[in-house]
Amino acid sequence: MTSFPYQNVTLELVQGDITKLDVDAIVNAANSSLLGGGGVDGAIHRAAGPELLQECRLLQGCKTGDAKMTKGYRLPARHVIHAVGPVWHGGQQNEPALLASCYQRSLTLVTEASLTSIAFPNISTGIYGYPKDKACQTAVAAVTGFVGGDSALKRIVFACFDSENFALYERALSLLR
Ligand code: ADP
Repeated sequence: MTSFPYQNVTLELVQGDITKLDVDAIVNAANSSLLGGGGVDGAIHRAAGPELLQECRLLQGCKTGDAKMTKGYRLPARHVIHAVGPVWHGGQQNEPALLASCYQRSLTLVTEASLTSIAFPNISTGIYGYPKDKACQTAVAAVTGFVGGDSALKRIVFACFDSENFALYERALSLLR
């Protein structure tokens, strides 16, 4: 784990499984049905147990770029924020704004709930095909652009599953000042 103090928060970088993290909220890279899928979505539903899907069924889906919060059930995390990232179509279909919106909406939800810690996966960089370097730049810009206001939020974790994402975030976060 590497920590990068930034304004009034600590940005943390970890490599590994987001379902293991003890934070107030983990973010799920969900699809718009919110009814489960592969990748990190499947891992979160498996670790949280079937009650998570039951609650998700009540939410009636989620638009791309938006996010909705549920409880965390059997996860160490108290809440799950289901954010729907864009599918990469080449970059001309509003993908950067939609990806940034996932991070902003998730941070808004934790702030409104007065939570102190959140962990993000690398949204859209798996099955949805978003180039990892571009996604990293957008994620870091969205998160650093959000912090600084009056909020209980203290820890923002970037949970990178693969070493390519980890290296990209290590570089991007170390360049912040
Ligand atoms: P998307 O459909 O948004 O691309 P994926 O789940 O396919 O979602 O991939 C998003 C990112 O989550 C990828 O970088 C993938 O390597 C990563 N990932 C997969 N499983 C986990 C996990 N258990 N914890 C954290 N990240 C994960």
